[in-house]
Amino acid sequence: MQNTHHVAVIGAGPAGLFGARELANQGARVAVFNRDIKPGGLAEYGIYPAKHVMKEGLRKQFRQVLDNPNIDYYGNISIGTQGDLSLDDILALGFQAVLVTAGAQGTKWLGLPGEDLTGVYHAKDVVYFYNKLPPFSQKKFRFGRRVAIVGAGNVMVDIARYLIQDVKADEVIAVVRRGPAEVKFDKKEMEYVIANLDIAALDEEIQRSTPIMQAVNQDPQAARATILESQPKAVPAVSQSRFRFEFLASPVQMHGEDGLLTKLEIEDNILVLKDGETKAKGTGNKRLLDVETVIFAIGDKVDATFGLPVEWNEFVKVEPPKYPIDNHSYESPVEGVFVGGWSRKASEGLVGYARKDGINAARAVLEYLKAKQPINPSPEAVTAKMKGLNKPVIMKDDIKRLETVEVEEATKRGLEEFKFASNEEMLEAMGLIETA
Ligand SMILES: Cc1cc2nc3c(=O)[nH]c(=O)nc-3n(C[C@H](O)[C@H](O)[C@H](O)COP(=O)(O)OP(=O)(O)OC[C@H]3O[C@@H](n4cnc5c(N)ncnc54)[C@H](O)[C@@H]3O)c2cc1C
Repeated sequence: MQNTHHVAVIGAGPAGLFGARELANQGARVAVFNRDIKPGGLAEYGIYPAKHVMKEGLRKQFRQVLDNPNIDYYGNISIGTQGDLSLDDILALGFQAVLVTAGAQGTKWLGLPGEDLTGVYHAKDVVYFYNKLPPFSQKKFRFGRRVAIVGAGNVMVDIARYLIQDVKADEVIAVVRRGPAEVKFDKKEMEYVIANLDIAALDEEIQRSTPIMQAVNQDPQAARATILESQPKAVPAVSQSRFRFEFLASPVQMHGEDGLLTKLEIEDNILVLKDGETKAKGTGNKRLLDVETVIFAIGDKVDATFGLPVEWNEFVKVEPPKYPIDNHSYESPVEGVFVGGWSRKASEGLVGYARKDGINAARAVLEYLKAKQPINPSPEAVTAKMKGLNKPVIMKDDIKRLETVEVEEATKRGLEEFKFASNEEMLEAMGLIETA
């Protein structure tokens, strides 16, 4: 093999895969390590399952990336202090740089009493569940008749869509800390749930919020119009679920009986202007919502057990950076270790953003490598290390086999798509284990 740079990429979501492609296109040999069997990250396991065209389009691009002969894939391998290999193990394999694109796998909780009750979940777990990512796909969730989702972004809307279209819950309540002018979801996403929106309840909320909004110079009717913007394109309702908003409300506690959630306690907020920003401020007035499920869609944080220093829910970046790209730092304080995508900025942006950020991170790595002598990379040493782990390691050909079997299953069952919901079934389909 010709002398070149040998780089490890941790995580095969959009940031990792497009970052790996950039590195390989510039001549580097790249080994991609991925926790999940399948590549794709949240493009596979986050984006709403019914978005078949978008998901298939992305899978096609990911397949092309992995077809690059300078990119090796090792799936079912988790890196971290509690993983199959540590970051030090990876560095000891002789990689000249490591690009961490492992997403934001930590869970952000508000630390409220009652978070341990059955029926209280984090959005990521729910999204992984309905997108069939093991082991979340095999866990039991208690989706009750009345569900509160805390949050005001696209993830809140995706989960509302699932609860309205699949679970067919009686009532889905979006609990929003600030007011109607501060919702963060896109018009397009609302199209799927707006037919179930209780407009009378929205108008009551707008009326209740009006004096609070006007006190900070917000226009309640403009906010109402923005929320309802997708109405002309409303996807027809498939359930009787009632979808409504509770604006200007923060969760303070969950109440339960026999370990099961029964009520969400919220505190009313007003809006105040601070340093030019609108902030929510509790009034002390508390109310109870009768719900059996609460889902927190309040964003994610990076995995603190990964092995990189963490501050404010993010991996620490070197400032000012030695290799800035687009004025961002992609450098961790560990020599030769870089971060990109949601591992650089948790919960930031859509796939297009993660793709660009992964490419930028790869460019920072390439700048760093300019001072390093090319070596004779040894993918064989990496494969040998993988074999020593005594667990099935997924390579590119295995993924191809799995995809073929899943397509066959979908055809057999008359489905648009079929996914095995456990690692065992996937391993069996790839012929890597035999089950009784
Ligand atoms: C609910 C939801 C819906 C979304 N819907 C859309 C949408 O409709 N359209 C859109 O454009 N964007 C959407 N997004 C955003 C998009 O999915 C993200 O922007 C993008 O996937 C982030 O890419 P990433 O590569 O940084 O991280 P991720 O996609 O999270 O990928 C991380 C990868 O790292 C791997 N990994 C994690 N930990 C480890 C470890 N310790 N060791 C080894 N590997 C590890 C994982 O297996 C995964 O493959 C959605 C996001 C969510 C959460």
